[in-house]
Amino acid sequence: MIMYFAIAIFTGNLTARLRTKERQAQYNAERTMALYTLAHETATAVNMDDVLHTAVTQIGRVFDASIAILLPKEGKLDAQPHPASTLTFDEKDASVAAWVFANNKPAGKFTDMLPLASATYLPLRTPSRTVGVIGICTNDSQRYAYDQEVMLETFVTQVALTVERELLDEAGEQSMMMRESERLYTTLLNSISHELRTPIATIAGAASSLNDPATAAQPDVRAAMTQDIRDAADRLNRLVENLLDMSRLESGRLQLKREWCDLREIVAIAVTRFETCMTPRALTITHEPDLPLVEVDFVLLEQVIVNLLDNICHYTPPDTAVQIETRRRDSAVEIIVSDAGTGIPAEELNRIFDKFYRVPGTATGGTGLGLSICRGLVEAHGGTLAAANRLEGGARFTIRLPTNGAPPPVHEASL
Ligand code: ADP
Repeated sequence: MIMYFAIAIFTGNLTARLRTKERQAQYNAERTMALYTLAHETATAVNMDDVLHTAVTQIGRVFDASIAILLPKEGKLDAQPHPASTLTFDEKDASVAAWVFANNKPAGKFTDMLPLASATYLPLRTPSRTVGVIGICTNDSQRYAYDQEVMLETFVTQVALTVERELLDEAGEQSMMMRESERLYTTLLNSISHELRTPIATIAGAASSLNDPATAAQPDVRAAMTQDIRDAADRLNRLVENLLDMSRLESGRLQLKREWCDLREIVAIAVTRFETCMTPRALTITHEPDLPLVEVDFVLLEQVIVNLLDNICHYTPPDTAVQIETRRRDSAVEIIVSDAGTGIPAEELNRIFDKFYRVPGTATGGTGLGLSICRGLVEAHGGTLAAANRLEGGARFTIRLPTNGAPPPVHEASL
C-alpha cells in the first residue's frame, strides 16, 4: 500500500510538472506568435496609420486592454491620441502622457509617478530618441505579472522602432519633395529668364535700328527688322501661353472647352503660325478622307501642334522635310507630326516628356516645358502622346484622341 501511494504521489507530481511545462510552452508559443504577428504586420504596413492601427489591435488583443498612441507634433506631444486608439482619453491623461514624453519615463497606473491616472503610459523609446507615448488600460485591477511586463516592453519597443521607421520615411519624402521643388524653381527661373531675355533683346535692338534714319531709307532692311520683332513677340507669346497652360495643368484647374472640331482646320490654323520656318522645309499635310469630327478644345489642341512644330523649327535643319498626317484608327483619330531631323536618342524618348527636361547637349533656348505641356493637354482630352524615331531618320510624335460618339446632327435652317 505504502509503495502504491508513493508511486501515485510521484507520478501525480510528475504529471503536474509536465502539465505546467506544457502550459508554459504553450504560453511561450503564443507569445512568440503574437510578437511575430506584430512584427510582420507592422513591417508590411504601408503608412503610419496602418502601423498604429495594427499596433493598437495586436497589443489590445494580447493584453486584453484599451490602447492609446500619441505622436509628437511640431516638437511637442499631440494632445489628442491617434484616431486608431481605443482608450478614452481626457485632459488628465493628456498631461500624464506629456510628462512621460518630456521625461522619457513610464507614469500612471501601477507606477510610482502619477499612480491615480486611469491608464499606464510608457514612452515609445528607440536607441536614438522618444517617438511617442503609448497608454495601456487593462480590464484587470491587478498589475501584470513580471513575464507579461517583459513581453509588453518587447511589444512597445517593436512599435517604437516601426514608428521611427515611418517617421524617417516621411522626413525623407518631405526633404525629397523640397529638393525637387527647389530644383524646379531654379530651373524655371534660369530657363525663363533666358527665354525672356533673348526676344526682348531682339525687340529692343530692332526697334532702335528702325529709329536710325539710315535703316529707315532701306525698305527691305526695315521689313526684316519688323519680321524680327514679330518673331520675337511670337516667341514671348508662346512662352507665356506655355507657362499659363503649365500652371493650369498643375493646379488641376484646366477647363476644356470641348466642341466638335475638324482636325484639318486645327492643323491648318497651327501651320499658319510657322510660315517663315516652314517655307524652306518641304511641308506635306495629308488627311484621311472622311475623318470624323472630334470633341476637343480647339485652342488647346492647336497649342499642342504649335509646340510640336516649334520644336521642329528649333531642332531640325532648315532644308529637311516635315509631314503632318491625320488618320482614323479603330475608335480613335491620330495626328502624326514627323520630321527628318536627327531624331531623339532612344533612351531619352520617354524622358523628353518630363517637366524641364531637355536632351543633354541640346542648344540653349528652350525651357523643357513644351512636350510635358503637350502630353498634359492631350491626356486631359483622354488621349495619348507618344514619341518615336522614324526608320528613315527623324522624330515622329503621335497624338491619339478617342472619338467618343458621333457629333449631333446638323439641321439645315429652313427658309
Ligand atoms: P524645349 O524645346 O523647350 O527644350 P520640349 O519639352 O519641347 O522643351 O522638348 C524637350 C527636348 O526634346 C528638347 O530639348 C529637344 O532636345 C528634344 N526634342 C523635341 N522635339 C524634337 C525634335 N523634333 N527633334 C529632335 N529633338 C527634339
